Amino acid sequence: VEAAPDASSDERHRWHDLAERITDAQEAYYGADAPTVSDAEYDLWMRELQQLEEDFPELRTPDSPTQKVGAAQRMTDFAPVTHAERLLSLDNVFSTEELTEWLARTEKSVGAAGSKYLCELKIDGLAINLTYEKGRLVRAATRGDGRVGEDVTGNVMTIASIPRTLTGDGVPELVEVRGEVFFPVAAFAELNASLVEAGKAPFANPRNAAAGSLRQKDPSVTANRPLDMLVHGIGARSGFDIARQSEAYERLTAWGLPTSPYYRVLQTPAEVLDFVAHYGEHRHDVSHEIDGIVIKVDEIARQRQLGTTSRAPRWAIAYKYPPEEVNTKLLDIQVNV
Ligand code: NAD
Repeated sequence: VEAAPDASSDERHRWHDLAERITDAQEAYYGADAPTVSDAEYDLWMRELQQLEEDFPELRTPDSPTQKVGAAQRMTDFAPVTHAERLLSLDNVFSTEELTEWLARTEKSVGAAGSKYLCELKIDGLAINLTYEKGRLVRAATRGDGRVGEDVTGNVMTIASIPRTLTGDGVPELVEVRGEVFFPVAAFAELNASLVEAGKAPFANPRNAAAGSLRQKDPSVTANRPLDMLVHGIGARSGFDIARQSEAYERLTAWGLPTSPYYRVLQTPAEVLDFVAHYGEHRHDVSHEIDGIVIKVDEIARQRQLGTTSRAPRWAIAYKYPPEEVNTKLLDIQVNV
């Protein structure tokens, strides 16, 4: 095996430049809910950084943006909450070729026989962790850096679709429910118009509107925003067991939690690619923004076998659609401001 070449000073310089741009963009996006660059540009920087680190592994420090979830923790208006189990991000692919490779790699690691993929829409919202103890919603927190998030319980309590109490059979001792709070697209233009009318800055897109609306000091402001939520995972749990991701969704639905009607459990890579192509055509037919498709290995035993990296599960991948809306979104801001 040939030793990897050392990075030249140009490459080191480029690494620092990219890491700094990404960190600044994260501050604006996660900290202030006001992005300074498009998601597409951000994704390109991140890709280039990943490629540099692949070519020159000595550049991959533990605090590189490629190794972390979200942005560094900083002081905010909200109390810190340590999640019982970490919230992760997702790795991305940007083409059907890359997705096909991921599916092949996954089947090579855990076997193709009887393989099942849970395919669902990637909701462009804000990740939230809900903690239910003995069926009661006791805490809601943002993802933060994956370990520690912000306590937004009071604000989340104002969202009508989130139950305060779980109902039905087998309500567990403890369950952390993960999902996405989003701003329905239909209500977004109206919100921005009213902000502009009040002399306030409009939001760049529905994702930032969701984050900005949820992270309000005063819950009565949040209560007046038509936020909604869909759940797509569980974290720490006790008092029940599940064998498949889809089984978790069935349980969550039965307990009264809002799950997406759009997920499908599919058998083969070809079916997965069809699902991706279908929503590529129909992404605007859904009430929330979609920035891609998430593909998860359905069987929990196989998920455990595949494990996670420091920032994302190896048993799931996000296929990101091309950034058709980005320019119009940025144009909207210019028009509105
Ligand atoms: P991500 O948004 O690409 O993916 C991870 C998140 O997807 C998870 O945390 C989860 O909450 C969410 N998600 C939505 N639907 C899901 C589903 N069905 N199943 C599972 N998870 C689902 O990753 P990220 O780390 O949150 O953020 C990176 C992305 O955010 C970038 O690719 C970019 O698009 C955007 N970003 C933009 C800027 C900017 O300046 N424009 C800055 C930072 C991040």
